[in-house]
This record gives sequence, structure tokens and C-alpha cells, in this order.
Amino acid sequence: MKLLILLGPPGAGKGTQAQLLTSKYGYVQLSTGDMLRAAVKAGSEVGKQAEAIMKSGGLVSDEIVTKLIADRLDGESQATGFIFDGYPRTQAQAESLDALLSERGLKLDHVIELDVDEDALVDRISGRYTCARCNEGYHDRYKLPKTAGVCDVCGSTEFKRRPDDNAETVRTRLAEYRAKTAPILPYYEAKGLVTRVDGMADIEDVTASIDRILGEETVGTPA
Ligand code: AMP
Repeated sequence: MKLLILLGPPGAGKGTQAQLLTSKYGYVQLSTGDMLRAAVKAGSEVGKQAEAIMKSGGLVSDEIVTKLIADRLDGESQATGFIFDGYPRTQAQAESLDALLSERGLKLDHVIELDVDEDALVDRISGRYTCARCNEGYHDRYKLPKTAGVCDVCGSTEFKRRPDDNAETVRTRLAEYRAKTAPILPYYEAKGLVTRVDGMADIEDVTASIDRILGEETVGTPA
């Protein structure tokens, strides 16, 4: 069982790398952003509470996101690993995660910090979109589908963009990252868990660096 946190500002490539690791090793991606977007779409109580906050680029309450994570951890008892993507984002969430894991006899193996040049983030974020059916990620300049307008993975011709991927909201999201999320790095550094990876490298090179950290280049079972 491998447990890994991907930490980095919006647009650093956490979701992209989490998806690649998921298809390579069968790990379960736990993205609180994805869970919250699903809750908004479903119109649930959590979704109603989160929607306006997400639109503004602020952070949803620690209680809500920790509950989402706890429920998913309990629902995936067969998992061979978990990738935390976009969680924890505050010191309180980091401490809650420790408690959730120790209650379940689990422990973190790695915190991977995706280090990126902030100037590149707005450019990355404003060009990104996903397949509306399977959620595969694309980008207007860096990752186009092999056949224009057709998803490489599932063949769908429907794509979507996130409402919070606009320049103004991105600035708030970056400010939230700097104020509340970056300060949790020392907490994990003190536990000896943090490895920094150059998030400006090509997608495959970032994956290769993460593979090295996981030490699973040869034992992983490609899907
Ligand atoms: P993401 O997809 O990770 O960029 O998250 C999108 C938005 O969902 C964020 O800007 C926050 O409003 C909210 N969100 C996602 N994860 C968390 C979290 N761990 N704590 C608080 N808010 C979150």
C-alpha cells in the first residue's frame, strides 16, 4: 500500500500526474476538487455549500473536505495505493489526514512537491480542458487530442472547461496556496517525507521522477 500526496499550486500538474499513476499502478486518486465538482453537479448539500466558494477561488471548509476524504478512504478497501491530489490544503487538513490514516493503520510514504514557475501557471490553467465523458485532461497548446475534437481515451467529442479556470479566480487560488497550503510543507519536511520535483519539465519526465521516488519502475504492473 503506497500513500502519496501531490502538493503544488493550481496548474502544477497534480491531476495529470495522479491520472497517469492511477492508470499505471492502479492507485486510487483522491481529488477533493473532483469530489466537490461532482457534489456541485449533483446539487447535493455539500455541493450547495461549496459552489460559490469554488467560483471565487477560496477554500471550502476543512470539515467538508476531510469528510469527503474519510468516506472515500473507507469505500476503497481493496486499493493498492492512494494519491492525495489537492488535499490537504491547510495545516488543519494535514493534521486531520494524519488522524484519519492512523485510525486506519495507514501511513504516508511520500509528499511530492511539484515545483513550478508561477508565471507559467496562468498560461497552463487558462488553456486546459477535459473530456466530458472520461475526464482525460487536455491543453490548447501542450496536449491536444491526436484527432482534433476526439478524446484519445474514450472517443467522446464533448469537452469541458472548469468555471474557476479564469485569470481572476486563478490569482485568488494562487494566493490561497501561498497563504494556506505552502506553509504545510515544513510539517511534512520535519517528518522527512518531502521530495521536490521540477513541475516545469515535460509530463513524461515528471512521471519518471515520481516513479523513481516511488521506487516502482520495475515492479509496477502497467494497465
Ligand atoms: P482543485 O480541483 O484541486 O483545483 O480544487 C478546486 C477548488 O475546490 C479549489 O479552488 C477550492 O475551492 C476547492 N477545494 C478543493 N480541494 C480543497 C481542499 N482540500 N480544501 C479546501 N477547498 C478545496
